[in-house]
Amino acid sequence: MSSIAHCITPPTTTQFTNRRLAREWKTVEAMVHIYCRDQHGGALCSDCQQLMSYVSLRLERCRFGQDKPTCAKCPVHCYQRERRNQIKAVMRYAGPRMLWERPWLSLCHLLDGWFRRV
Ligand SMILES: [Zn+2]
Repeated sequence: MSSIAHCITPPTTTQFTNRRLAREWKTVEAMVHIYCRDQHGGALCSDCQQLMSYVSLRLERCRFGQDKPTCAKCPVHCYQRERRNQIKAVMRYAGPRMLWERPWLSLCHLLDGWFRRV
């Protein structure tokens, strides 16, 4: 289905009611932006937009819902292998940079323990 991209809400408008999910989403969003800006140059490219849509979908559909552990700790590997590698690359690159650019967000992120696995 090539038309599926049109049905996906633009990632920047994604809203999560759950505070934890919202924060996780914000972190991912910030990291993808940093990664794309430095690696792909300029505004968010379609590749990275798709990755973000994918991540938001995964967060939304996560079977653990409110009690969800952070993705790195999650026992269920709900990311497709290709997407998982993509998001890993993003985190490896943008993670350390987040400390400079978004210190508060990365602090929360660290506390949530994502970095231990990535
Ligand atoms: Zn990109």
